[in-house]
Amino acid sequence: MKLCEHLETPLLVEVSGGNSIKEVSDNAWSNAKLVVILENKIEKLRANAEVEKYDFVQFFEINDNHYDPQSGYYCNKCKQAVTSPQ
Ligand SMILES: [Zn+2]
Repeated sequence: MKLCEHLETPLLVEVSGGNSIKEVSDNAWSNAKLVVILENKIEKLRANAEVEKYDFVQFFEINDNHYDPQSGYYCNKCKQAVTSPQ
C-alpha cells in the first residue's frame, strides 16, 4: 500500500529535515491501514502549514501506559498515519 497524498508532504518535510523512515507496516493499528514509523520525533511545527490544508488530517500525541509514547499525523480520510517516538 502506498502512503496517501495527504500525508506525503508531512513525511517529505520530516525526511528532508533529517528524519528517516524506520518501518512501514500494514494494518499495524486497528484504525490504520498503513503506518509509517519514523526514527526520530516529529517536529509538529515543521509540517503544520501543509497539514492545515486538510481538515481531516490531525496531529496526535499518545501518552498511554499501554503503548509506547508516540506522536504523529493521522489521515481520517484514508486511515493512514505517519508516526514517531515522542
Ligand atoms: Zn489521506
